[in-house]
Amino acid sequence: MSGQTRAAPIAIIADDEDLGRLLLVESTAECGLEALGFDNGTAALDAALTRDVAIVLLDVDMPGMDGFSVCRRLRAESRLATVPIVMVTGHEDSAAISRAFEAGATDFISKPVNWALLPRRLEYILRNAAAARALTERMVQVRTLVEAIPDTLWVVAPDGRIQWSPNAGASAESAPPAHAGDDHEAMLAPPERLPEALAAIRQTANDGVQRKLEYRESGQSGSRRSFEVRFSRREGGDVVVVRQDTSERTAAAEHIERLAYFDSLTGLPNRQRCIETAERMFAEAAESQESVAVIYLDLNSFKRVNDTFGHSVGDAVLRTVAGNLTRALESFKAANEHVTVARFGGDEFVILLRHRTARSLAIEIAATCCAVFKNPIVYEGLEFYSAPSIGLAIYPDDGDDVATVLKHADTAMYQAKTGATASVAVYTAAMSSRLRDWLDLEARLRRAVQEDLLHLQFQPKFRLHDNRVAGVEALLRWSDAEHGDISPNRFVEIAEDSGLIIDLGSWVARAACRQLRKWLDRGCAVPIAINVSGKELLHGDPARVLETEAAAAGVPPSLIEIEITESLLVKDSTVVRNALEKLRQLGCRIALDDFGTGYSSLAYITRFPPDRIKIDKAFVHNVDRSASDAAIANAILSLGASLDLIVTAEGIERSGQLEWLRARGCHEAQGFLLSRPLSARDFEQRFLRESESAAHSERQGRA
Ligand code: C2E
Ligand code: MG
Ligand code: MG
Repeated sequence: MSGQTRAAPIAIIADDEDLGRLLLVESTAECGLEALGFDNGTAALDAALTRDVAIVLLDVDMPGMDGFSVCRRLRAESRLATVPIVMVTGHEDSAAISRAFEAGATDFISKPVNWALLPRRLEYILRNAAAARALTERMVQVRTLVEAIPDTLWVVAPDGRIQWSPNAGASAESAPPAHAGDDHEAMLAPPERLPEALAAIRQTANDGVQRKLEYRESGQSGSRRSFEVRFSRREGGDVVVVRQDTSERTAAAEHIERLAYFDSLTGLPNRQRCIETAERMFAEAAESQESVAVIYLDLNSFKRVNDTFGHSVGDAVLRTVAGNLTRALESFKAANEHVTVARFGGDEFVILLRHRTARSLAIEIAATCCAVFKNPIVYEGLEFYSAPSIGLAIYPDDGDDVATVLKHADTAMYQAKTGATASVAVYTAAMSSRLRDWLDLEARLRRAVQEDLLHLQFQPKFRLHDNRVAGVEALLRWSDAEHGDISPNRFVEIAEDSGLIIDLGSWVARAACRQLRKWLDRGCAVPIAINVSGKELLHGDPARVLETEAAAAGVPPSLIEIEITESLLVKDSTVVRNALEKLRQLGCRIALDDFGTGYSSLAYITRFPPDRIKIDKAFVHNVDRSASDAAIANAILSLGASLDLIVTAEGIERSGQLEWLRARGCHEAQGFLLSRPLSARDFEQRFLRESESAAHSERQGRA
């Protein structure tokens, strides 16, 4: 047993009659209370004010301070607000009873007292008081809780009149919405949604089904805020309305949606959203007997922009492309709302179009996109020309699910890529098998490099003033057992993508040096130009490779010329500059290939002057027929003249082109008209003697 006994609760008893007081003391003690009896009101009051009392019993009629007065004084004390005060009175008149209650009494006992029942009565009163105290405590807890919740709560009658609200408009943190005015039902929702809110209250009061209403409005600071209002029926038929400020939650949800469905770089819908939109459009088209065009657009040589200029420039170009595409689609959007463009991946965009004649409209859109890309993208003083490859596939003609139609549009895009620049291809079933071949190619190419199944062809370059061979360009050839001849335009890209280009480049350097050796052994010094990919300059060490191969074959590196595409030089990349510098120190000449097609800033030519520029065949094609091509060719010729560079024109197929160029002082020409690329043996048979003396005299001429 514990040594500490808890003090019994105290009962204060005031009665001036000794017997009555004694009996009251006895009865209260029987209830387990420690009874303190007093024969006057003042003493009882003092005791009650200073002790921790459980109950007070007061005789009404006492000399000095009477029971009513003591009761009133006690009730004025907030600490004693819930202590039961029982009046013991001989007056059975209702006036005395009401006085007792007015004074704050809990109950009354009339004399003569039924002493046998009194202890039970007191127990009952004490239990009620305990319950009331517990309830008050609960109320305080609930109120604290309600006040801590930022939501606003109302209890409203079925007709919408507000009955009660613990916190409407009270909480400083949750300022009331802009529309909230006085304390009536207009607070429940903004004016335009109020009828809806009142209807919900009516219905919920009626059927007890919970309802919800969401709305947005501008807050006092002008920011958009969102609210959710929930209605639920309370016992008794009133409706509890809880309004929650969901602005943060809504903003977070929207942010998540943006992250999940929109591309952060361009702001366009992303791949996921594009696929979902396509699914929706397919379903709608199936209903409305329309079709959906999937237009797959990929930027040619965008990788080069990234590799050469870095990702921040690449990003800027992509943003501009996204903006241009969006603008290009605006006129179509105006006529047909079912057009969207998404960024599907790195440099891939997908346009979706639902229409009755989606196919022909899509071809129009593709043409518009091509036209958009004719203009250069200007960024930090550089101009970028990026032609797109566009593939087109149609639902339901080319497949009945999104994955299939997308795949077919992608296949068509690849088909477009292998054609000329800025081309569009519409999917045909035959394309699919071709794509499988393409995927297969990388593995085959790797094997071809390892097993030495490649070879070089040589296309002579001719000096225009005496028509003699000035040298050859080595062009890589790959003839696959199954696929036959594969264009270097195709496999060089595969090699660049897979990193195989480094091995491929080494293979070309070795083969060229060995060929040079054979020709030197016959007494012919034919300068050989080899094409070097930007990836090799950035990630390999072509100078070291060439030095090794030239030494192994015992040939002077000065007979090797390096052809690089101009894009590489645009950025003042130290890696590229160093690589070129090392090649030059080795004695190699540098030629800028495909000149005029890439990134047309000319500043780089002065930063790293090449020995030769090669006018791209795109401008040679119509040089004698088109004023704009002629203007470009003329500009390149005069640039070459002023920088003292050799200018070679590529792709001569007609004598008209040749004569036009000759008349304007172009130094050299290369093209099918003069000679196709030839095997080493064919070249030897047709040109070797000439080339020996031509190469000899060229070197003397430049010395
Ligand atoms: P490129 O360096 O501009 O080579 C010239 C291309 O034009 C060659 O195509 C050549 O066959 C073609 N050509 C020459 N004369 C004419 C003509 O009169 N008309 C037309 N339409 N075309 C003509 P090819 O051999 O298919 O090579 C394509 C491209 O592949 C080359 O363009 C070059 O960028 C790349 N390439 C070829 N061999 C190699 C290589 O060993 N390494 C690297 N990295 N790239 C290579
Ligand atoms: Mg070339
Ligand atoms: Mg070229």
